[in-house]
Amino acid sequence: MRSLSTVLALGLCSYAALWAETNVSIAPQLTVLLSIEGKSSPSTLAELKSELGDIMKDTGRTLDVRLRQDAAPTESFQDVVLVSLKGTCKMEKLQVFSDERGPLAWTHSTDGAVLPFAEVSCDRIARSVASELWGGQRNQADKYLGRALGRVLAHELYHILGQTHEHNLDGSVAKEALSAKQLISDKRIGFDVRDLNRMIP
Ligand SMILES: [Zn+2]
Repeated sequence: MRSLSTVLALGLCSYAALWAETNVSIAPQLTVLLSIEGKSSPSTLAELKSELGDIMKDTGRTLDVRLRQDAAPTESFQDVVLVSLKGTCKMEKLQVFSDERGPLAWTHSTDGAVLPFAEVSCDRIARSVASELWGGQRNQADKYLGRALGRVLAHELYHILGQTHEHNLDGSVAKEALSAKQLISDKRIGFDVRDLNRMIP
């Protein structure tokens, strides 16, 4: 078990160390604490939680996604990942023609261990989503952004839980680069057996 303050102070603590202390007698719980830097939409956050929960249930874990500000400093967690949502996590203007490139999200490593911290660029993901929305989908732009965020975050959790920098092939949310179409598609995209084997609790 780890308290939030311990995890924050650690920074250096590798996920492998957290892993060794996990009690696996029941379905292990993974807590994801979100820090939101800028503006966000309630429907985006609701859809993020829903999509992430749907994808992660295949990993055999119970998922608890909350705002970091709602966690007590002394609270203990079986496993916890801290996620920083950077930029504006709502669809304000659909800037389809922006050409800014860069990763949608990233993790950090120390001595080969992937640390339980992820950073997500809401702005880049929003631009990618905007480029793919059309017709009536634009009326639910915030919801589609939440779906995309859930898929991107599932990808980062794969790196953290699987302790791997490798990727999978097309068809898995663990592929190297998710297209704008895959970020918002009504067709479910999750993990395959190879991904799940890497993330066995
Ligand atoms: Zn990746």
